[in-house]
Amino acid sequence: MTAAQDYHSPSEGVPFYTEKGNAKPRAVQGRFRTYKWWLMAATLAWWHLAPFLRWDRGPYSPHQAILIDMAGRRAYFFNIEIWPQEVYYLTGLLLIAAITLFMMSAVAGRVWCGFLCWQTVYTDLFVSVERKVLGDRNKRIAFSQAPFSLGKLGKLALLNAVWLIIAAACGIGFVLWFGDAPHLLVQILTLQAPPGMYLFIGLIGGFCFLLAGYARERVCVYMCPYARFQSAMFDEHSLIVSYEAWRGEPRGPLKGGIQGRDPKEVFQDRGHCVDCQMCVQACPTGIDIRRGTQLACIGCGLCVDACNSVMERFGLPRNLISYDSSYNLQARTAGLEPRLRLVRPRTLIYAAVLVVAGSAMLGTLLMRPDMRVDVLHVRVPLAVAVSGGRVRNGYDYKVLNMARHPRTVTLRAIDPANVSLDVVGGGSGSAVTLQIPADNVATFHIFTTSHSHPEGNEAVTFQLTEPGHPKVDIRNVSFMAQPD
Ligand code: SF4
Ligand code: SF4
Repeated sequence: MTAAQDYHSPSEGVPFYTEKGNAKPRAVQGRFRTYKWWLMAATLAWWHLAPFLRWDRGPYSPHQAILIDMAGRRAYFFNIEIWPQEVYYLTGLLLIAAITLFMMSAVAGRVWCGFLCWQTVYTDLFVSVERKVLGDRNKRIAFSQAPFSLGKLGKLALLNAVWLIIAAACGIGFVLWFGDAPHLLVQILTLQAPPGMYLFIGLIGGFCFLLAGYARERVCVYMCPYARFQSAMFDEHSLIVSYEAWRGEPRGPLKGGIQGRDPKEVFQDRGHCVDCQMCVQACPTGIDIRRGTQLACIGCGLCVDACNSVMERFGLPRNLISYDSSYNLQARTAGLEPRLRLVRPRTLIYAAVLVVAGSAMLGTLLMRPDMRVDVLHVRVPLAVAVSGGRVRNGYDYKVLNMARHPRTVTLRAIDPANVSLDVVGGGSGSAVTLQIPADNVATFHIFTTSHSHPEGNEAVTFQLTEPGHPKVDIRNVSFMAQPD
């Protein structure tokens, strides 16, 4: 059974999972390898350094540009502050992230999987450490087959120690998003952080160590759900990695070498693939792309780099393995002109959804009020009879003040006119004054008293005003005009 067959389904007579050990990819150089280094540096820098970005929000507010403040129940993104009551922004953000991912897949295939996914980035980093400690592919294969020795144990210990340091840095990087990063980092390194923080560092770091160090391509092939359905986002113009069989076949080793010979003559009656296996050896998931498009191909392009180096050595055109659309592959097979088509119905739909969702998010963020009101009718008791044939109802009246200064507001019951208000621990009358602390939620227990009414239920209208502020909150609440 070959590595590529391992990933076929049982309907083809091969089990879903076959343990075959980690792929030991060969080091390659080329365009895609360079992209991967740069993107690895960018993603890791973002992960570890973004929490250290500062942003001045004035006194009494965190100065971390991006912060998920669980204790303060707030999330900060530069000038934007999201309260728990605004969790729908998170839904919007997730929608935008999902559609962006779909768009990326429709345009550039598995570019997320091959270059940006955390699993790919950390596996790539762990493999490059492994290569430094144990050597390139052949040395690593020999190492894994060598009998146990003290030297082998020492190298394994060194490798795992470096992996553990990277995994711990990954875990620390995670917790720094949830607190003041410079302060937390000092606390963590001087062992003064709370035990729960070390637990999270251990959990995230442990997963990083196991998934990137040992599980590796199994995560992409067997565990990741996105790999299963992203082909639904592809069409014939999406970029994928493909072997151009029309010029590669019939393949076979090149007898006699190329030295001093004209490549055109040498390859006249045969395909350009010299069956050197470099593409297979470079592949981080250990597959042979010449067998056709496969689920296990994460679209990293390393086989393209590997094959291009072979093509250059033989004086042949590059891109026997190409990162191009299946439309262009067929066009080249038929001798037609290939073309890049980015504007297509599905990319237009994704772009339209992105524009709509993005504009809605931006619009609501720009227009959102800095004060919110929430009223809850107290249920037990719903209504109590008081003197003079009147009835009293209770409410929890919550005012969320998102401004960074305290505010004084006036609450009235404007309809019906005979309703009086009584704030527990505060004033009473037809209008009451409420003090709202800065950047906080104030809850007031309020009683409304009105004449009893034979029909039982009626509405009361609360009006909240703030001097010098044009916005007014008006809301109708139910009033039970018959005692329980
Ligand atoms: S087949 Fe090529 S593009 Fe696909 S995972 Fe392997 S090396 Fe990457
Ligand atoms: S690297 Fe290129 S030439 Fe070598 S086996 Fe793969 S496709 Fe053929």
